[in-house]
Amino acid sequence: MKILVINTGSSSIKYQLFDMEKQKAVVNGLAEKIGEKTSILTHKLIDNQGNGKKKIEEGRLANHAEGLERIVELLVDPEFGAIRDKSEISAVGHRVVHGGEAFQESIIINEKVLAAVKKNIPLAPLHNPPNLTGIEVAQNIFPDVPHVGVFDTSFHQTIPRRAYLYAVPYSLYEKQRVRRYGFHGTSHAYVAEEAAAYLKRPIEELKLITIHLGNGASMAAVKNGRCIDTSMGLTPLEGLVMGTRCGDVDPALPYFMARNLNMTIDEIDKTLNKQSGLKGLCGDNDMRNVEEKAVSGDELSALALEIYSYRIKKYIGAYYASLGHLDAIIFTAGIGENSPLIRGMCCEGLDSLGISVDACKNKEPRKDIREISPPNSQIKVLVIPTNEEKKIAMETERIVKRNGCGQTGRK
Ligand code: ADP
Repeated sequence: MKILVINTGSSSIKYQLFDMEKQKAVVNGLAEKIGEKTSILTHKLIDNQGNGKKKIEEGRLANHAEGLERIVELLVDPEFGAIRDKSEISAVGHRVVHGGEAFQESIIINEKVLAAVKKNIPLAPLHNPPNLTGIEVAQNIFPDVPHVGVFDTSFHQTIPRRAYLYAVPYSLYEKQRVRRYGFHGTSHAYVAEEAAAYLKRPIEELKLITIHLGNGASMAAVKNGRCIDTSMGLTPLEGLVMGTRCGDVDPALPYFMARNLNMTIDEIDKTLNKQSGLKGLCGDNDMRNVEEKAVSGDELSALALEIYSYRIKKYIGAYYASLGHLDAIIFTAGIGENSPLIRGMCCEGLDSLGISVDACKNKEPRKDIREISPPNSQIKVLVIPTNEEKKIAMETERIVKRNGCGQTGRK
């Protein structure tokens, strides 16, 4: 079965074509600057060894429909494509950021699902509208195959009320659905399952803390395969320190800024979402640069690293308490997979909790799943590469098969 996975942003389409028999992507790519004067389409055909043959096109893609049409032409291109005809694609999996409370799991997209995603626009005004555009455009190009929505929020829908409700007037929840939703669910779910496979233990008996550190960053407490808490909240602003987002602050800060600095809601929003986090603290949101600057003696960069890892350490303690027991901590995403410095700082001084990192193993420049805790540690510290697109493809296959759509994707 071949599955096309699409992640649509306001001016971009990220895509991967998966061959589910091989359990891997055979093509990936990104169309960006859609709607601008010059759009860029970077397309890669991947061979069996994982090597890529790249094609970069510059030219105007007026809208998402034009973008996806060109992507489909490349998918069937004799030189750069992996299929002969678009009818070889059995299903399309869509990343949808906010499923609200409507979706506990991935689902075949129909009119009712589209209406529910639209209803959640106030909760994700930047993400759900382009996700909907992507679905509409893909449904027009692939009208005969199932389209599956895979939500960033659904893995977190098992969180109990005590963890998802804020202590604000209950009517805000009843009327406006104000609560913790959590994001990066596809990544947390994927690495939790990979951890269980690596540890050769059923996920139903594991207590895990998953730490996703990319540009956005979040953590989850996963008990017996179900998420019981996560650090992002109503929006992705809550929780950890991120590239440009502040994470947890005193909730009084926005009105302090409004009253004392005469800032508008939009200015405050921009400051906390785009000018805070690592960038706000030391002027750079790319962790590689922050580390480099810290090593060469820049004090604010060193402080930013301390604040960044201290916040993670606090959440490790909190989630250990929530879980009551801990089998493994998993680091993933750009920073989690690649920064021994941050992994080491987050776990420093936690030996009395049974959590420690082996300095040599931590530094090994590997790309595969690996254990960085000392041998015989009760609590394993693991580094697991995330693969959200693969998880979306796996979910799409599962849902399509469960709905009896068969190998071709069609009923
Ligand atoms: P996104 O959330 O955009 O998918 P990624 O998961 O790609 O982000 O993570 C991006 C972050 O990973 C950036 O801050 C980048 O600096 C960091 N990163 C990538 N490689 C390294 C590395 N070798 N050392 C430290 N940080 C790294």
